[in-house]
Amino acid sequence: MVQYFTPSYSLYPVLADIHGAQRNAVPLKPDFSLPSVGELKRGKAWDFRAALSYVTTPNAPSGRGYPVAELDALCQAQKGVLVLDEAYVDFARENALALALKHPHVLVARTFSKAYSLCFQRVGYFVGHAQLVDALHKIRDSYNVNGLGQVAAVATLSDLPYYRRNFRRIIATRERLTAELTAMGFQVLPSQTNFLLVKPPRFRAQKWLAKLRSRKVLVRWFSQPEISGYLRITIGTDAEMDALLRAARHILG
Ligand SMILES: *Cc1c(COP(=O)(O)O)cnc(C)c1O
Repeated sequence: MVQYFTPSYSLYPVLADIHGAQRNAVPLKPDFSLPSVGELKRGKAWDFRAALSYVTTPNAPSGRGYPVAELDALCQAQKGVLVLDEAYVDFARENALALALKHPHVLVARTFSKAYSLCFQRVGYFVGHAQLVDALHKIRDSYNVNGLGQVAAVATLSDLPYYRRNFRRIIATRERLTAELTAMGFQVLPSQTNFLLVKPPRFRAQKWLAKLRSRKVLVRWFSQPEISGYLRITIGTDAEMDALLRAARHILG
C-alpha cells in the first residue's frame, strides 16, 4: 500500500495507480500541519505498517515546513518504508537528511527540478541506508538518469554559491510579499517553500484567479475542497511581485 497525506504532491496517487498499488490518503490537519503520532493512532486512518508512505516536507501546495523532531517521531512509529520528499527543502529552515541516516527504513528524496531549475532534465536522488538503496536498484528502470542531466546536475554543484544567493533572494522576496499581502487583508500561510498559499479577502479565490488573469498576473487555484479557498502564488522576481501587488490593489480598490 502507498500512503500519503492530503493535500500534498498530486503525483503520488497517479503513480500509485499506474503501479496498481492500493492507496491510502490521510488528511493533514485543517491548517496543513502534520498530525502527531498520537493523533494518527487515535484517528486510525494512518497505517503504520503501510509498505510505502510519503511525507512532502516542506509541504506542497501549502508551503508549510515540518520540524525535524515531528518527522523523527513519525519515523520512529512507522514500520514500513517512509519517504521524506524534500523537493522544496532549499527554501526551508531545516532539512531532515539526518533522519535517513538514523533510520534504516527512511529515505530522503531530493530533486534538481525546483531550486536548481533543471526540471527539463529530470534529475533526482534518494539518500538512505545501503540495504534500502540496494532494494531500489533491483526495482528501478534498467536505464540510468540521462547523461546530459548528470552533467547539468554536477555543473550546478560546482556553482553552489550562485544558487544559495538565489535561495536567499527568493526567501527575502517571500517574506516581503507575505508582509505586504497580510497588510492588504490576505491570510498568508507560513511558507518554507518558493510559493505562498493565501486566502484572499473580499472575493472568492476562484474569482481572484480570473481578476488577476485579466491583469496578466498568473497564479494557481486548485478545485479540491480543502484548498479551493486559497490561491498559490509562486515567488518570482521583485518586479513580478510588485506587479502582483499593484494588480491586487486595483482589484481591492
Ligand atoms: C516537483 C516535485 C517532485 C518531483 O520532481 P522531479 O521533477 O520528478 O524530480 C517531487 N515531489 C514534489 C513535492 C514536487 O513538487
